[in-house]
Parts: sequence; structure tokens; C-alpha cells
Amino acid sequence: MTTRTRILAIFLPSLVIAGAAAGQTPQPTPKRTAEIVIRAGTIHTMAQGRPTMRSMAIGGGVVLAVGEAAHDLDGFIGSGTQVIDDPALTLLPGFIDTHTHLLFAASDINDVHVNEAKDIAGFLDLIHKRAAVTPKGNWIRTSSDWNEWNLAEKRMPQASDLDKATSDHPVLVRRGGHNDVLNTMGMRLVGLTRDTPTPRGGGTIVKDAAGNPTGWLIDSAKGLAERQFPPPTTEQRIEELRLASLDYAAHGITTVRDAFVQEDEVPLFQAAKERGALSVRVRAMVGYGFGPSTPSQMTPWMDRIAARVGSGDDMFRIWGLKLVLDGGAENGATEEPYVGQPDFRGQLFWQEDTLAEVISNAARRGLKVGVHAWGDRAVRTLLDVYERVLKQQPGVPKGALVLEHGGLSPAKERARAIKMGIPVTVQHPLLHDLAFGLIEGLGPKRTADIFPIREWLNEGALLGAGSDYPVGEYDAMMSVWGMVTRQTRAGILGPEHAIDVATAIRLYTVDAARLIGESDRLGTLEPGKLADVVAYRRDPMSIPVAELPFLHPAFTMVGGRIIGTRSRDQSRRSAKTQQ
Ligand SMILES: [Zn+2]
Repeated sequence: MTTRTRILAIFLPSLVIAGAAAGQTPQPTPKRTAEIVIRAGTIHTMAQGRPTMRSMAIGGGVVLAVGEAAHDLDGFIGSGTQVIDDPALTLLPGFIDTHTHLLFAASDINDVHVNEAKDIAGFLDLIHKRAAVTPKGNWIRTSSDWNEWNLAEKRMPQASDLDKATSDHPVLVRRGGHNDVLNTMGMRLVGLTRDTPTPRGGGTIVKDAAGNPTGWLIDSAKGLAERQFPPPTTEQRIEELRLASLDYAAHGITTVRDAFVQEDEVPLFQAAKERGALSVRVRAMVGYGFGPSTPSQMTPWMDRIAARVGSGDDMFRIWGLKLVLDGGAENGATEEPYVGQPDFRGQLFWQEDTLAEVISNAARRGLKVGVHAWGDRAVRTLLDVYERVLKQQPGVPKGALVLEHGGLSPAKERARAIKMGIPVTVQHPLLHDLAFGLIEGLGPKRTADIFPIREWLNEGALLGAGSDYPVGEYDAMMSVWGMVTRQTRAGILGPEHAIDVATAIRLYTVDAARLIGESDRLGTLEPGKLADVVAYRRDPMSIPVAELPFLHPAFTMVGGRIIGTRSRDQSRRSAKTQQ
């Protein structure tokens, strides 16, 4: 140990700092032993002004101490201590995905993840592979988080395509919230024929020139297929959450802010937590429903949420409320019209006055609010609303009102958000996966200006990074790579908005913890912080950027507990590096 060695230890009553006289290096003489001592090649603590460390002691779910040299914390080792001695390891604080949909990931965890397909042949191959391990006659269903824009053919597969993948299984392909496609066996099972009447409520049964259904069902017609899938039981949902949260952890994520949780899903999370089925910490944004409502309708709901906010623990708690102001890729509210649609500037779902009243009511109850605002017209409108609320209630704490996405945020609006202290969640994976569709609607110039992350940071904004899964993929290192390269499915877009790797990691750790209001417990590896760690075999801060998408955690630790990794992800990640 050199004289330059510094040890940062938690000041527990059980810990004595000895030799602290002038000129001497303080040495902790721990009276308690650690449960785990890690000696790594590099520990990026992400703490301000702290050098890179080499060792860390963990006990009681928290970081007890970090040391500059590998053997600095040997004093913490007792007979029961697990020592992980591996100079090849690089440790970082666990990643915090500040805007994702874990519940959605749980609902599609058992589906075929066709998002990785590059063309229809690849799409069919994934279904074919699932068919090989599925008993004949059982349904095969795909996830809905993909888009035909990303297939070489740029079209939806039809029943005649799907029949090539399997003729022994009914297949239901889902895409987004509006489209289903059945294979021939699926059509037979649901009784879909050329005589099936179009269901009420604005649906479509797509038919070929001869009048036969092609398998494609739109909107209300989807009900024909989806009644084959009864809603899962609570037991099934807990099991799905177990698998999905393991998969997030396998990607280095240790905390998620779930951006749409319904009130009746709060007990589901609590039950999952009590069963030990949550592998990541969850901060719920509770949504009222998909459409806007009147302030008076929402008041009793708000009261109930406000009463529950304080009742969580480190694994699960309610962050606040979620509201949606405008549409997304297809109908976000813009100042200028959409390409080729001179009369269409997207959709705002709220009247400004109503939204202001609802947010005022929430703020008055001490509730935090995150509002989805994607287009520049939505961003401007939301900031107008936030301005009104803050004028009425100047005591609302900083960080209580959040801008979710802010996809198109011009300089003027950025300045206003920063002045008001409004943090922003940004999700490069969304831009990565939706690039083709965004260019179609907004044109290349506006699309390239989505998520001006560098400008936000240079101007002083607080940003948290995330994925918006299922719109983008939740692999944290893919997202870091995306923020650094501005790579998308449609090539590099807006390279002037790129940031460096260390900054991108900061947006997933320190800054994400600040955004969710938990920098006292999360975001850095310092004594007293929760022992949420992601370990890699190579150092993401120094390997070539092009290799980041292939960097897979060696292990992830949540509260000092090592989470097993799943292997499905190896295949999920491969396709995403292709653009
Ligand atoms: Zn979202």
C-alpha cells in the first residue's frame, strides 16, 4: 500500500479510522467484516472528484468502503467473506433506466422477439426456431416491439409468409398497438374466413384481390385473434416480471423507472417484490389511463396515489404520476406540418388549462409528475403549463416536474426548461429503432435534431438516460453506444448532438439518480450507497466505441446480491448493431 492510498469508508459506529494524524494515511480498522470484498482492475465510482478505485467492500446491501489499491480493504475480510479477486473486471454503478416499461417487457417476455430480424426470411426463421421447441398445436406469439420499416422488404408479413415458418402451430404476429397477423392455422382456429364480418369500432380485416383474408387484422378486428389469449393471472404476471427484471439486470440495469403503471398494478409489484421476483429496483410512474380526464375525475385517484407514495422501500416505490401530452413517432405535436401532410401537425391530447389544473392538483399533493412531450409544439405547451404551475406554487421542489422525451427541443425551449429546473429523460434507443418512420413523418433534418443531448448538457440541463422499451431496446450499453455515435437503423443522425462515453454513462448513473431524486442512495459507488454494481470484463470507458454493443456484463449486483444472467440476450443484441 502506498502512502497515496486513500480509503473511503462509511462512518459506521463499528468502524474506527486509525492513524489519522497529520501526514499519515487514514486506515480503517473495521470491526465488522464485509459480506463481499471485490478486488477489480478498475472501479469507476462515478463519484465527483474521486479517483478510480480498485477495491470495494460490501455488507448489508450497501457499499462499506472503496479503496485505491486492490488490497486496501483486506481488513474487511473475515471467515464468511466472499472475495472476488479478478483484475480483469471493471466495475461501474448499476445503470438506472429513467424511462422504460418493465411491465410491458414482462408481458412479452415469453414471446418471439422478432425485432432483431432484418428481413422477412430472418423474421420467419425466428418463428421457425420457436416452433421447433413448442408442442404442435400450441400458439406462437411475437412481441409487438418491431416495425416493418426495419425489414428489408418494408412490409408486414402475411399468412402465406408465416405458413413457411410452421404449419403445425397457430401463429399470432403482433406489431405495435394496432396490427395483428395470423397464419393460416391461426385463422382457422379463430374462425376467420372470407365471410367473417368486419367487427364494429373501426377495424379492418385485410383481404386479397380474391376477397380472402390475408391474416392481417387492424384495430378492432384484432379482437378476433386476441381473445385466444386470456389475460394472464397474477401468478403468471409475477413470473413474467421475474423473467423480465432478470433480463434488465442481465443488461447491467439495476433500477428502472417504469413509465406507465396503473394503480391496480402497484400491488402486483409489491407481491413480486415480496416473493423475491424483482431483480431490479422499480420506481413507478402511475398513470390514470390513456386518455385525458377531467381534473375532478382524477382527484380521488390522486389522493390515493399520494397516500401510497411514502410507503415503498428501496426495491419498489412510487415515483409519481405519468401524463401523456402528445403522440409519438406518428403523431407527436409539432410546430411545422408533417412531410407531405400540410394540414397535419400531430396531436395534443390535453387542453392546456386542463393539464395545468391537473398538474397543479398533483403538485399541491406533493406528487411528482412526468409528462410525455415528444414534438416541439408539445414541449412548448408543456413548458407553458409548468411555468403557470411554478408561478402559482413557487415552493414546488426542483425535479418534481419532469419533461419525458422532449424529442424536438429547440434552443428557446431548452433555455426555458433549464431556467425552471425541469429535468429531461432522453432515450436514444427510441431514435435508433424508429429512425425510418421518423424521417418519413418529420423529414431528415428534424429527425436528426431529435434528442439534442450535447446541447442540453452544455446549457446546463439535468438529463437521465433510458430506453423507452418497447419503443427502443433496453440494453444499456447499446444505448450508451447510440448516444456516443448517434447511430440509428437509418444511419448516423445528428452527430453534432453526440456525447462521449463517460458522459453517456453519467446519464445512466449519477445523473439518473439525481433525476429520480435518489442521489443519496444510488448512482455512484461510495460508502453508504446501495451496492448496485455492474461488472464488465473490459472497460467501457477505454475500449473502441464500436465494441460497446457487444459488451455484456460479467455480472450485475443489486443490493450486494449477484443476479444471474440469461442467455437469450446474446441473440437479441446482435441485430441491433446493424443499422
Ligand atoms: Zn414511454
